[in-house]
Amino acid sequence: MPAIEDYWPLADRQRELQQAARQFAQTEIRPQAAALDRSARFARDIYQGMGRQGLLGITIPSEWGGAGADTIAYALVMEELSVGYASIADQCGLVELCATLLHGLGTDYQKKRYLAPLLQAEATCSFALTEPDAGSDLGALVTTAEKTADGFVLNGSKIFIHNGPICDFALVLARTPARADGPRRRAMSIFIVEADTPGFSRGAREHKMGQRASELASLYFKDCRLTGDALLGTEGDGFKHMMMVLEKGRIGIASLSLGISRSALEESLQIFAGRVAAERPGADTQTIQWTLANMATDIYAARAMIAHASGLKDRGIPANMHASMAKLFASESAVKHTTAAVQIVGLQGYTQGSILERLYRDAKVTQIYEGTSEVQRIIISRDLQRNGLMP
Ligand SMILES: Cc1cc2nc3c(=O)[nH]c(=O)nc-3n(C[C@H](O)[C@H](O)[C@H](O)COP(=O)(O)OP(=O)(O)OC[C@H]3O[C@@H](n4cnc5c(N)ncnc54)[C@H](O)[C@@H]3O)c2cc1C
Repeated sequence: MPAIEDYWPLADRQRELQQAARQFAQTEIRPQAAALDRSARFARDIYQGMGRQGLLGITIPSEWGGAGADTIAYALVMEELSVGYASIADQCGLVELCATLLHGLGTDYQKKRYLAPLLQAEATCSFALTEPDAGSDLGALVTTAEKTADGFVLNGSKIFIHNGPICDFALVLARTPARADGPRRRAMSIFIVEADTPGFSRGAREHKMGQRASELASLYFKDCRLTGDALLGTEGDGFKHMMMVLEKGRIGIASLSLGISRSALEESLQIFAGRVAAERPGADTQTIQWTLANMATDIYAARAMIAHASGLKDRGIPANMHASMAKLFASESAVKHTTAAVQIVGLQGYTQGSILERLYRDAKVTQIYEGTSEVQRIIISRDLQRNGLMP
């Protein structure tokens, strides 16, 4: 199969980061993936390695410790890390979202206190939106931040928060009083909540089907007193700020999904090469050839969609619909093709501990987080009705 660089000319910096991520995935991530899946623990050593290799904060300027690259480079890094193991790419994606918010909205004090240590992997973060009754519909969230003379008091809870068990700080979306000129149902603000704030606590670790080394937990806020410095961005614009960053988030998850599909195809090809060499009956049937061909075609298509959406974003052109299309297609493809891979390989892909069995489990959540497939379809159709089909 042609390598991406054969048909997609990359700038030097993009290629450099892609190669660094590929190398890191091969030497540092892949050998540990099965053990991490079993232990279901945050891989601190790999996280610190990513910090040392400059694989955190890909689009953040280098003066703050980022890689100073663009969205295309970010997509390439996410794909390569995910070929190593999706939970590690997930960590890169989470840092990218939090760092983008901190860099874009933060004061100098906030950048020094949170952004710089985050990009050096000295700190871990969470991005806390979801609540028991507010998943896809964030307009329903009930966590509140009441204003006091010197700051805010935060009350409420969040569920399914990545890094919840281990984060040093969380970016928390909470309801704040509506401004006269601002939105009502979406009157929310973002707060930086440090884990040692009195009143902050964490729930038990969730046990998940896939991406098991991405630790998840609920976060609880009981009369958490926050100073004015905890407010990130403009009061009342938190929902808008979060939505802006989710465009990049969807490109990231599309790339992570693509990495899972690529890994499934590479593993399947390797298994079948061995079977054909051993002249095993059924190893080269049309069913298998067609399945592999369909996988490769969708990998190519997902790459093209991700590259296009990333390119639009880098040129400052709204990429909302394109990012959602890329995320929808790449995540549905990952689920479809990991399922197909297990099917054509048979027992060898179904056995616990096999790479395909892990990929099959890791793929499923890509249709759920960062906006479910149904939510992506809503975004796409709303955009279509508003702006028509893209040129
Ligand atoms: C592994 C993992 C990691 C996560 N990490 C984080 C994190 O770090 N931070 C965070 O804030 N959240 C996180 N989440 C939560 C995630 O964002 C939510 O699961 C997601 O937004 C969906 O919300 P929900 O699970 O409450 O499902 P619901 O919103 O209750 O949806 C249930 C079903 O109904 C469908 N549905 C909902 N509304 C509509 C509609 N209007 N039209 C059609 N269908 C609809 C959905 O598509 C879905 O199929 C994580 C989740 C998982 C599984």
